[in-house]
Amino acid sequence: MDDQEKQKTNFIRQIVEADIAAGKNDGRVQTRFPPEPNGYLHIGHAKAICLDFDIAKEFQGECYLRFDDTNPEKEDIEYVEAIEKDLKWLGYSWDERQTYASDYFPKLHGFALNLIQEGKAYVDSQSADEIRLLRGTLTEPGKDSPYRDRPIDENMDLFQKMANGVFDEGEHVLRAKINMASPNINMRDPTLYRIRKVVHQRTGDTWCIYPMYDFAHTLSDVLEGTTHSLCTLEFEDHRPLYEWFLENLPVQNYPRQIEFSRLNLMFTVMSKRKLSQLVDEGHVGGWHDPRMPTLSGLRRRGYTAASIRDFIGRIGITKKDNLIELGSLENCLREELNETAPRRFAVLRPLKVVIDNYPQDKEELLDAANHPNRPDLGSRQIPFCREIYIESDDFREDPPRKFRRLSPGSEVRLRYGYIIKCEEVIKDQSGEVIELRCSYDPETRSGSEQAQRKVKGTIHWVSARHAIQRELHLYDRLFIAPNPDQGTDDFKRHLNPDSLEILKNSMLEPILEAAKPAEKFQFERQGYFTIDTEFPDCSVFSRTVTLRDSWAKIERQAAIEESRQA
Ligand code: ATP
Ligand code: MG
Repeated sequence: MDDQEKQKTNFIRQIVEADIAAGKNDGRVQTRFPPEPNGYLHIGHAKAICLDFDIAKEFQGECYLRFDDTNPEKEDIEYVEAIEKDLKWLGYSWDERQTYASDYFPKLHGFALNLIQEGKAYVDSQSADEIRLLRGTLTEPGKDSPYRDRPIDENMDLFQKMANGVFDEGEHVLRAKINMASPNINMRDPTLYRIRKVVHQRTGDTWCIYPMYDFAHTLSDVLEGTTHSLCTLEFEDHRPLYEWFLENLPVQNYPRQIEFSRLNLMFTVMSKRKLSQLVDEGHVGGWHDPRMPTLSGLRRRGYTAASIRDFIGRIGITKKDNLIELGSLENCLREELNETAPRRFAVLRPLKVVIDNYPQDKEELLDAANHPNRPDLGSRQIPFCREIYIESDDFREDPPRKFRRLSPGSEVRLRYGYIIKCEEVIKDQSGEVIELRCSYDPETRSGSEQAQRKVKGTIHWVSARHAIQRELHLYDRLFIAPNPDQGTDDFKRHLNPDSLEILKNSMLEPILEAAKPAEKFQFERQGYFTIDTEFPDCSVFSRTVTLRDSWAKIERQAAIEESRQA
C-alpha cells in the first residue's frame, strides 16, 4: 500500500463512510478542532487538525475551529491569535465557523438545570479532599457523598446561589449522579461545574461558575451539530460519560466520539505543560524557538506547511500508540527542499586561501547552476579572485587515507572554478593554520574546453573580496534522550546542551545579500538554510535541516559495530 492509499483507508474514514451509507445525520459530516487556548500548537496538534479538516472536506462537510476556553486562569488571547495564525499557515480555513465553548455557557447552564430537575445532578458540599477520598481507586469502588440525596429544590437553590456568587471557591460543586461503584472512575459522579471567581477573557465577570471539560465538550459538540467528534486515545475512558450526557439530556444531535492515537516524536516533548516550562524557565527563546516542536517554531526553522501535511499523511491514523522518528519529519522537508531550494555557496567556518599565481587585480564571474536538475531555476554568476575562503574542514595538514579534499601538495577542484594546489601552509604562533598559499591551473576552468582534467575532490568556496559575512545558527535536536518524557526523572535533565551552535563569521556568496525573510536555500554540502524571520535586517541565517540524516548514520554505524562485537 503506498502512502496515499494508507491515508485514504484510515479506520476513521471507514467509520464515516459507513455512517453516511447508513443514513446517519442525514448523511451530513461535521467535525471540529477544539484547542484549549493555553499554549501554542505543536506538530501533534497538526495530526488532529489535518484529520478533522480533511475528513470534513472529503465528505463535503464542515470543520469548526472551537476554542475550548473553560479554564479562564490559564487561557489568553495571545494563544487564540497564535492558533488562528498557525491553522491558516497550515492551509486551512473555517470562515465563520469559529466558536468558543464560552459561547455556549448560557445553554450549558440550562443543561445543568435540566439534569438537576431530573434528579441526575446534585450539589456536593464536600471539600475537594473529601471528594477525592470517597472517589475510590482503580481497584476499589467509590462511596456515595453524604449530599448525594439532596432534594431537587435544595439542589436548584444552591446551584443558583453558586452562579450568583454567594459562595466562595471550593465551597460547593455540581456533580452528575451516575454511579460511585462504576469500574470507570470517570462515571463516579463526575464534577460538572465548579466555582471560579476569575474574569474570563470573553465573558468577563458574567460567570463565577465554569463547566468542566467533559460536560462542556460533549454539549458543545451537540449544540454545534458535530457528527464525528475525533479525539485522542486518552479520551477513550471518557466515552461512556460522553454517551451518558447524550442519553440523559434532551439533545437533537448525537455526535459520535472516535479516538485515535496521539503523535509522539522522538527527541522532543509534546505536552503544552512541558513546552511552557521550557519557555518559562528560559531553556529556549520562546514558543517559536526553532528547536521547539511547535508549528510556529517549525515555521521559523524553515519547515513548510506542505512538508508538515505530507508528514502527517505518511504517518497515518491508527489506534496504536507510537513514537515516530524525528528523521521521518526531517525527510519530508528534505524531499521538498531538494526539489525547490536554489543552491548557494556559504563557507561556515572560513579558512583563507591566497592563489599566488592569480593576478592581483583580476576578477572573473563563474557560471553556476541554481539547481543540478532544474534548468528552469536558471543560473547565477559567482565572482572569483585571488583570495578566497574555503571551509576549514576541507583542509587537513595530516590527511587520513581517502581524504579527497585539500592537504599540503594535493589538488582539489573549486566547484564551478579551477583546480588549485596547496603549496604552503601558514600558521599563527599557537600552531593553528590561518592561511593557505595555493596555485591554480588556468587551463582547468569549469565548462571550458580544457577543463577535463580530473581530480578526486571538489569543494565549495567564496571570494574573499566579494563575500558577505553573516551569522549562522545551526540547530540540533532539543533532547539527547529518544524519549525524554519516559521515566521518572525530570525531562529537562535530557536537554541537549549543544542544540544551538552560533557561527558569527560565516562567509556567503554575494547574491545572498538580496535574500528575503523565510526564503530557503541549499548551501551546498552544508544543508538547507533560511533567513531567520526574527531578525528583520536579514542578518541571521538558520539551518533548517542537514542534507542527510547524520544521526541515522551514527545510529546505523553504532548498530553495525555492536553486531560485529556480538
Ligand atoms: P497537550 O497535551 O499538548 O496539552 P491537549 O490535548 O491538552 O494537548 P488541546 O488544546 O486540548 O491540547 O488539543 C486540541 C486537540 O488536539 C485535541 O483534540 C487533542 O486530542 C489534539 N491533540 C493534542 N495533542 C495531540 C497529539 N500529540 N497528537 C494528536 N492530536 C493531539
Ligand atoms: Mg486538552
